[in-house]
Amino acid sequence: MLKKGTLIKGKCTSYSNEGEGVIHLNKEVIFVKGLIVGEEADILINYNRVGINYGSIKKIHKISKDRIQPKCKVATACGGCSFQSLSYPKQLEYKTNKVKDAFKYISKLDVKVNDCIGMDEPYYYRNKIQTPVKKINKKIVSGFYKVKSHNIVPIDECVIEDKRSNKIINSIKKIMADFKIEPYDEDRRYGIIRHVLIRTSLHFNEIMVVLVTNCDSFPSRNNFINIIKKENPEITTIVQNINKRDTNVILGEQERILFGKGYIVDSLCGIKFHISSKSFFQINPIQTEKLYRYIATKLDLKKSDALLDAYSGVGTIGMSLANKVKEVISVEIERSAVKDAIRNAKENNIKNIKFICDDASRYINELKELDVLVMDPPRKGSTPEFLKAVNYLQPKNIIYVSCDPNTLARDINYLKDKYIIKVVQPFDMFPMTYHIETVVHLVRR
Ligand code: SAH
Repeated sequence: MLKKGTLIKGKCTSYSNEGEGVIHLNKEVIFVKGLIVGEEADILINYNRVGINYGSIKKIHKISKDRIQPKCKVATACGGCSFQSLSYPKQLEYKTNKVKDAFKYISKLDVKVNDCIGMDEPYYYRNKIQTPVKKINKKIVSGFYKVKSHNIVPIDECVIEDKRSNKIINSIKKIMADFKIEPYDEDRRYGIIRHVLIRTSLHFNEIMVVLVTNCDSFPSRNNFINIIKKENPEITTIVQNINKRDTNVILGEQERILFGKGYIVDSLCGIKFHISSKSFFQINPIQTEKLYRYIATKLDLKKSDALLDAYSGVGTIGMSLANKVKEVISVEIERSAVKDAIRNAKENNIKNIKFICDDASRYINELKELDVLVMDPPRKGSTPEFLKAVNYLQPKNIIYVSCDPNTLARDINYLKDKYIIKVVQPFDMFPMTYHIETVVHLVRR
């Protein structure tokens, strides 16, 4: 391992799984955030972890033509984005190549991978911001945590968050200062506001602000809320969430609606969803709609089909396909997501859908028949039990939506004897970050 404080000179030859530039130097591996393939630079070693040295850029000797000026002022320090310095077409190329590599090295398959579908405007896409507030040098700040730390990097404009949220959070910080409402200090266990959460609707003019507080009530709460409303008339509801625990979990159990209806409504592919402070909802609704529509065009659904939507979350994919099939069964392990899903189906008058709260691997083994499977497991992927059941049931069409190409490629190994891979289509759901979403369409041989 290289000692902390060592200065090295090296050339970046690839990217890590989390999007850092990788340098190989005399059997040492160095990960450098913001370094671009082809660049040669002086690197300061900051720390090591499990066999890897982590460094930061001191001076770039050879600058890549793919380097761009980051839109964000704190791009390197902040742990949120990895690719602010890399041109957007190159970000998409990186994502396509990651998927290709996963299939090549893990599934041992040389499949065609389509070019990653990106956004026309890859900034300001997040519909949810959840930021701690702190006092640094007597100033109230909000922001993200530094890479691999619990120290906040103050941000006034996050370029991947909705512009409306950026404006509101800045206004709230100012009003907090005017009202002398202290941000919560974890070490001293003192102060009132811990986090501010803002959720915006893409299709309706609705915005929810959640103030996470360390106490039930605080001085001049009504006046404080009234000023927030006055300065930000676009806010449609304000909720107080009370979290008195000494924990990293942001939201507490108890909530009180201070203004409006306590939730917002947004829609995906024409279906409306209630979104409250804790609801799961896709954070890039523009790309989510593209992805759902893509799924619908790939699956040649029939009115006689039974479709299983496994790992269904709040039921969005199943609901978006329900009018094309006989019935949809959604299976999801989180009870609160299932509850939201049931309510959403009812409100949209979707009747041919059933929601099961269960482990997908357990549930699929109970099924006798299946025409179409859509599966969207978490990052760790599916399980051998689930995939064995798929091989037994042999639905004619499968859509596998994945947020980790490596576990996707591992799982495809179980299916490749009985299924032909028709399409592999990456989607950029999270521009500027290393995250990759992939849709695979499999058809029974
Ligand atoms: N399909 C949804 C959400 C996918 S996220 C959408 O597009 O919005 C993955 C989901 O899998 C999460 O909601 C998670 O709670 C659920 N999950 C995780 N493990 C599971 C399991 N063993 N069985 C069923 N669902 C599971």
